[in-house]
Amino acid sequence: MRCTSAVAAALLAASTAPALAEPTADELTARATALQKKLSGKGFTVVVEAPFVVVGDDAPSTVRHQATGFLRWTVGLLEKDFFKTRPDKLIEVWLFKNEKTYRAGAKAWFGDDPDTPYGYYSPEHVAMIMNMGPGAGTLSHELVHPYVEANFPAAPSWFNEGLASLFERPTEVHGHLQGLPNWRLPNLKKEIKAGTLPEMKVLLQTTHDGFYDAKFDAYAYARYLIEYLQDHGQLHAFYERFNGDPDTTGQVALEATVGEPLATFEPKWRAWALALKSDNR
Ligand SMILES: [Zn+2]
Repeated sequence: MRCTSAVAAALLAASTAPALAEPTADELTARATALQKKLSGKGFTVVVEAPFVVVGDDAPSTVRHQATGFLRWTVGLLEKDFFKTRPDKLIEVWLFKNEKTYRAGAKAWFGDDPDTPYGYYSPEHVAMIMNMGPGAGTLSHELVHPYVEANFPAAPSWFNEGLASLFERPTEVHGHLQGLPNWRLPNLKKEIKAGTLPEMKVLLQTTHDGFYDAKFDAYAYARYLIEYLQDHGQLHAFYERFNGDPDTTGQVALEATVGEPLATFEPKWRAWALALKSDNR
């Protein structure tokens, strides 16, 4: 194909431009300024940490450290390994120092009575509202969701929640984010031993509601399927193979990645899960 330089330049621009625009520096600054005004004298610190604006009620140095430390580290490694596109909306990240201020803040600023003590994402307010008292694991979990939405909109709930749950206990290994076994393991083992964990294809075929209303521990099932792939060095290959695949259950991508059908893979996965050790943090 013949290309004039103008066409070539336009093609180059089109191929490098993100499909959806992330918030600009000016938009982030404007939001931070508006929040500072709204929260003036109420004990909050507001920090721009692109692509987010962070609001916290702990000591100013602690809030700044949460933003430029844990949040920046998690987001940087997630973007490096999985996500080329940033969320296309400006998301506020509210970090409360304990459950008491979290519940009071959710009520005062968002009109919410949270049904979880840990934290949640409010689509209505485009905000993550987090209790940092128990640690940052819920924040790293929630950070995954807007990135999945922006980069893999067809992802089924099992993959979205499995990947988010994997990074509830993140560490860094050779410059990559890695999820360690966590508190979701004992219940998974219990369900495997009791024979109540359904076949893997049941998990893969769950609908949105089917996942969230599952009679089995769907979060743990999805998390440890994804951790298996991570621990065997296959998670990135699986993600690349799955994102955009016509089979939105992930079975085709999974079988291609592990090199065998579910019928022979699943017993291996169950044995691996039962042998996995965790200190359950
Ligand atoms: Zn989640």
